[in-house]
Amino acid sequence: MRESRTITVRDASSGLVAFIVLDSLALGPAAGGVRTWRYDSEKAALSDATRLARAMTIKCAISGLDAGGGKAVVMDHPGLDRPAAFRHLGAAVEALDGAFRTAGDVGTTASDLAAMASATQWVHEDESGLTEAVADGLVACLSAACRLTQPPLTWPNLSATVQGCGAIGGAVARGLAAQGLTLTVADLDHSRASQLALQIGAQRVSHRSVLSQSADILAPCALGGLITRDVAHALDVAVICGAANNILASVEAEVALKDRGIMWVPDVLASAGAVVRGIARTVMGLDDPAYLVRRLGDTTGEVLAEARERDTLASTVIASRVRQRMREAGVALGGLDS
Ligand code: NAD
Repeated sequence: MRESRTITVRDASSGLVAFIVLDSLALGPAAGGVRTWRYDSEKAALSDATRLARAMTIKCAISGLDAGGGKAVVMDHPGLDRPAAFRHLGAAVEALDGAFRTAGDVGTTASDLAAMASATQWVHEDESGLTEAVADGLVACLSAACRLTQPPLTWPNLSATVQGCGAIGGAVARGLAAQGLTLTVADLDHSRASQLALQIGAQRVSHRSVLSQSADILAPCALGGLITRDVAHALDVAVICGAANNILASVEAEVALKDRGIMWVPDVLASAGAVVRGIARTVMGLDDPAYLVRRLGDTTGEVLAEARERDTLASTVIASRVRQRMREAGVALGGLDS
């Protein structure tokens, strides 16, 4: 089964409405997390799942994984019986017979993943290794990017603002602090940000002031769509490198960053550590996924250097590399073909 498809999962007794989008199975099973969110409508949930699944396809292909992209989203609401709903979702994943390999994402808790795991073998429950892999991958990508700024930034004597102090933002902030960067952190949940700031010796600022902070680096690790064209025009940073998925609201935002000389490290590379670690072990049978995680930094350096040489966007370079991989696999990817 190599076709892309969408599965709607409904269970009236638990209140579950979920969508599983398998965007591409051309290179291998579809990999992607489960997002749980209060969507305004089923249409909004499906559209989020579709965009996130496409980002996973690009992420897996550019990272050299034998996997495609997928995503599951669960519509959160006050009446949701979570244990029963996530068991039901687990059964739907199990029925896909390994075509979808999943793990956590925003809004999905450890108990939700445990409930899924009671019904499927294809969910990765232990988030700690995955979040550390994201942090390692981001550090590799960021240090490669800092070597390419003009003038080069002197790693690690740099300041960075991390937006979002959840599973990923926390791991990223700890990883950057361990490298010696000076950090500022922010979260909608102030106590979460304060706790992290205390742990790693960072400054905490309000989530409202993140985009007006002057820093060498901005690391968005919360939700996507943060950088619009207007935001790009107002930022006072040299590099944007975060692990949130789909950080840019539009291609126009990437153009604005390029025009302003702000280096944009595509999140499909900066956030890829988790899927690299998971897929390298479970699908590709590699003993040393750390090598593939570190290689994200080399790929970032190549992509950014090529974008500069061709005077084009990093996302354009990534799209041509992904097309090339797909061609080699004998398939085309709708929406990326030229
Ligand atoms: P999480 O739910 O653990 O944490 C998200 C945090 O962001 C929360 O603390 C929330 O309060 C905060 N937040 C939300 N909006 C904010 C705002 N406007 N300002 C400041 N803080 C805000 O989620 P996570 O698993 O850490 O995922 C974060 C991002 O990383 C998502 O975009 C996700 O898709 C991406 N990602 C996750 C994984 C994974 O394995 N979990 C892997 C790669 C990428």
